[in-house]
Amino acid sequence: MQIFLYNTLTKQKEEFKPINSQEIRMYSCGPTVYKDATIGNMRTNIFQDVLRRVLKYNGYKIKHAMNLTDVGHLVSDGDEGEDKMVKSAKEENKTPLEIAEYYTKLFFQDLERLNIETPEIVCKATAHIKEMLEFVEALVEKGYAYETSTAIYFDISKLDKYPILSNLDLENQKAGARVNIDTEKRNPYDFALWIKAPANHLMKWDSPWGPSYPGWHIECSAMGQKYLGEQFDIHTGGIDLIPTHHENEIAQSKGRCGKVPANYWLHGEYLLINGGKMSKSLKNVYLLKDIIEKGYDPLTYKLFCYSCHYRNKLNFTWEGIEATSKSLERLRNSYKINVNGTDELTSQDIERLNKIEENFHKAINDDLNMPLAMSYVWEVARFEKKSPKVAKMLAKFDTVLGVEVDKVVLDNINEEIPQKILNLVEQRRIARESKDWAKSDELRGLILQNGYTVKDTKEGQVLIKCSK
Ligand code: AMP
Ligand code: ZN
Repeated sequence: MQIFLYNTLTKQKEEFKPINSQEIRMYSCGPTVYKDATIGNMRTNIFQDVLRRVLKYNGYKIKHAMNLTDVGHLVSDGDEGEDKMVKSAKEENKTPLEIAEYYTKLFFQDLERLNIETPEIVCKATAHIKEMLEFVEALVEKGYAYETSTAIYFDISKLDKYPILSNLDLENQKAGARVNIDTEKRNPYDFALWIKAPANHLMKWDSPWGPSYPGWHIECSAMGQKYLGEQFDIHTGGIDLIPTHHENEIAQSKGRCGKVPANYWLHGEYLLINGGKMSKSLKNVYLLKDIIEKGYDPLTYKLFCYSCHYRNKLNFTWEGIEATSKSLERLRNSYKINVNGTDELTSQDIERLNKIEENFHKAINDDLNMPLAMSYVWEVARFEKKSPKVAKMLAKFDTVLGVEVDKVVLDNINEEIPQKILNLVEQRRIARESKDWAKSDELRGLILQNGYTVKDTKEGQVLIKCSK
């Protein structure tokens, strides 16, 4: 079946045609590992996970690379201010390496809790200084870059066209925010490829220009090329990356290889909180752990994200999470009831189910239309007849949803398990994962008080309803 994706490069939905149908090559801009990832950041990761899963649903193999920015991302996207890693290290009285390790671990813990697949390649900037330096040197040699007293800049006037991804209006924005930064720049929109380090700077490397460190954009051009080649299929990120980071990544790759590095550029929209921006001053910066601490299964948030297309703004509310939590419970209960169902399906039933499956497939292939796809998931979940064949179809859909429709391993239970118990079981799983045995025992006690015992098996926790 054809796949259609909205391409920011051409500003239209296009049929997806891979370079090599044996393997899709895809790159995602990963986090700057200097602070906790928010549920907003996670929305972007969920969108990227759905894309991977949809490609796999269509039978493709994937080679997906994601970077971790652990150097070079300055406080302002316009090459101004301190390095975010260095600033955070000073504030937390740690080394940049400790900061990177700490937040990288938390980031991957969130991905795991959201059942987000880890990309085949995870690459961090500080491990690719050599590749980045080579890239910058090649750009200088080809005349696309020049040295000033503070940095090596990319000269955008050397390109046939800039910008090509975003709608920056260079002429009218000359008086804009990024203009009066460095008088040595040849053009206001020239950006730093490599930055000369002040004497006491924490992260710096030897280079032909003395002790220095990379600019933010060069890592993605260098690592993308190293792991996926000069030209690959898909590049993804959050919508905020379009005008600076991705525009400049394209500029760098065009300078070095004469090519736009990816054919399809996909961008996820922002998550809003109660209709507005997430911000520290409004005290509405939520992390996944806030959702878990309120007793929700973290996959509730993933399912919540499917209520909105990835290219539209999504408004987060606790009421929305509460309602989605009930939906997740209903979905899992439908799976459980169908696994044990004994209804015979007629050929008409099978035909109906196959039609729903086709519609689900069409929806996910139509630029990842998850709200529409979910309507077909519910048609199956609410199918009048209860049969393992229905459960099998839900499990197939779950290869895209990744919300673990079959989550809790059950024993002797033929009725719906209250969500409260499922939440306790999930919290206990998390406690065990972090080897918090005291908490795990405490939760076991709570589960018992509510009439269930929990056994630990190789397959995970098994719930058993206590006889009265
Ligand atoms: P930041 O931590 O703000 O640097 O964000 C890292 C990446 O996460 C950004 O480039 C965005 O693509 C994405 N992101 C940040 N905030 C949100 C949000 N509220 N909704 C969706 N994606 C976001
Ligand atoms: Zn990037």
